[in-house]
Amino acid sequence: MAQVTEDQVLSALSRLQLPNGKSVVEMNMITGLVVKDNMVQFSLDIGNPENADKFEPMRKAAEDLIKNDVKGVLAVTAILTAEKPQEKAQQKPDAQEKNAGAFKITHIVAVASGKGGVGKSTTAINLALALKKLGLNVGMLDADVFGPSQPRMLGVSGKPETSADGKMLDPKEGYGLKVMSMGFLVDEDQPVVWRGPMVMGALQQMLNDVNWGALDVLIVDMPPGTGDAQLTMAQNVPLAGSVIISTPQDIALIDARKGLNMFRKTDVPVLGIIENMSYFLCPSCGDRSDIFGHGGARDEAEKLGIPFLGEIPLHMDIRETSDNGNPIVESDPNSAHAKIYNDIASQLWASLSGEPQNTGPKITIS
Ligand code: ADP
Repeated sequence: MAQVTEDQVLSALSRLQLPNGKSVVEMNMITGLVVKDNMVQFSLDIGNPENADKFEPMRKAAEDLIKNDVKGVLAVTAILTAEKPQEKAQQKPDAQEKNAGAFKITHIVAVASGKGGVGKSTTAINLALALKKLGLNVGMLDADVFGPSQPRMLGVSGKPETSADGKMLDPKEGYGLKVMSMGFLVDEDQPVVWRGPMVMGALQQMLNDVNWGALDVLIVDMPPGTGDAQLTMAQNVPLAGSVIISTPQDIALIDARKGLNMFRKTDVPVLGIIENMSYFLCPSCGDRSDIFGHGGARDEAEKLGIPFLGEIPLHMDIRETSDNGNPIVESDPNSAHAKIYNDIASQLWASLSGEPQNTGPKITIS
């Protein structure tokens, strides 16, 4: 099959005109164009988020144009991005000042991993729910554009609504968490081969143009890996810190170390490492087997001088509950697994807030 080229895409898009008679290409509105394996992605930079409704038909028209006019195209994803030129110019180097929209969010924490499939999203959601149980207002931003899984893990779907003022998106809610995910915005069967600029545009929109309200903690489920996209994100979001998820296998630890270096390069404090699938707990007999070896992440954390936050077993209940949209901290709050997530969440909150850890359950006398 003939390979689709960027030129073909741009030449099709140059037929898409604005009311002033100039094309979207002439107006430099196309950014982050990626053509890979006959799949096309790009952003339409609309300059001002307030124009989003107006430009939505144009975004759709751009997708249709490429689908219909460029031979061999398998999938097209266009998103609207808005970065006002004056904001670009005014951006200050201080990370905390970068995203005005995030001002009501006290702590933004990235949950990251060196590679995919280590249980980053499962850990992120259970931690978010455990933080909520501490009485905090918590949000979940699923920035894993390569495979957004939070909608499934929280059993939430559909497109987010535009808020009453028409300018922002309202996050969805799942188990008391405010949730925003690339998965709500992108068609599930369209392969998403995002790259740096598009990931950034999308992430900043999800951070700045969403009515998060006042949050104590926003957990960001990062895309796996330590490539350019992740690095750019870490550099552009005012992160309070990061948590690295690793499995005990050596290879994953090597990957996790790359992740650590990435955050170090960006001066984002690494709040700790969590070892997931640390040991196997037999669902029928409860016996523990260290099938991948044990203690690797703890040793590594010690060597690197980073807090080790805990070990989560490989257990069917954890997999089934998160894959079925009912994570274990919510569905079985008194289980031993939920307790592990609660303990980790308490440590995390202690290091974010500077408050001493809550050592026991709260007792309320009425
Ligand atoms: P990632 O976000 O790193 O790609 P996921 O959180 O999607 O990984 O997890 C990959 C798979 O492993 C999912 O099916 C999930 O339910 C399962 N999983 C994650 N952590 C555990 C665990 N501790 N025990 C059992 N299964 C797990």
